[in-house]
Amino acid sequence: MVIIEPHIHMFSRTTDDYQAMYEQGIRVTVEPSFWLGSQRRHAGTFWDYFECILDFEAQRAERFGIDHYANIAVNPKEAEDKALAHETIDGMDAYWEHERCLAVGEIGYNLITPNEEEVFMRQLEIAKARNYLVMIHTPHDTPQVSKRKGVERTIAVLRELDYDHDRIIIDHNTEDTMDLTRAADTWAGMTVYPYSKLNPVRAIDILKKWGLEKTMVNSSADWGVSDPTTLPKIAGHMRENGFTDAQVEQLLFTNPHAFYRQSGKFEPRLDLPFIHPSTYQR
Ligand SMILES: [Zn+2]
Repeated sequence: MVIIEPHIHMFSRTTDDYQAMYEQGIRVTVEPSFWLGSQRRHAGTFWDYFECILDFEAQRAERFGIDHYANIAVNPKEAEDKALAHETIDGMDAYWEHERCLAVGEIGYNLITPNEEEVFMRQLEIAKARNYLVMIHTPHDTPQVSKRKGVERTIAVLRELDYDHDRIIIDHNTEDTMDLTRAADTWAGMTVYPYSKLNPVRAIDILKKWGLEKTMVNSSADWGVSDPTTLPKIAGHMRENGFTDAQVEQLLFTNPHAFYRQSGKFEPRLDLPFIHPSTYQR
């Protein structure tokens, strides 16, 4: 079965990961922009990073038989330095217009602050004006922040924006937020981790309760404890829980394909050859 991984940070992964992903059926990856682990101080370092995930990462993936795309944005975690965020966005057109950029993302809330909201809104308005797809990050539950509040605030902002909800995915849903996202009728993402946050058992329960329509799952694998072969494992869990092969294919291929196709740039090559590292030219 061919799998599309709609949200993964390959920038932080190794070639062993690409090899394992290929062997387990992943043929397409989409890499949203994310926080690199330390506060960036220059707009240029954002722009160089965007170029890296749009160009270099696509070349790296291709050797492993995987067609790689990216989503471009200033992440909510990087919105507190407002001047820097705006300067960065001022210079982002070329990256959004890149043939491998499929959406504006991840944008949204991290701690639900006014600065985050300003940077979120500006990027949403650009997306609406140019008819871009949008990937929205939602906050993780912490003692200070509630994911549900973040999703509620996100939906309120989207209502004000009045942009086609079929072109928007609200990501990182859990059993605490699926009712909100379903009612808003955007696409719903779920990020599945091996242990923390949303594990596979909980994800399967959510799928049973809320169905597969306009839904995508992802591993989001980055530098933290995460697993880039989560989606093949989800396929196995789904079959064990009575989902049909057609339903597995809907969730892991048809749905992400339908969402990203709306970008007008998504024609993934599913038959790229895997070039075994032992055959590389010296
Ligand atoms: Zn992410």
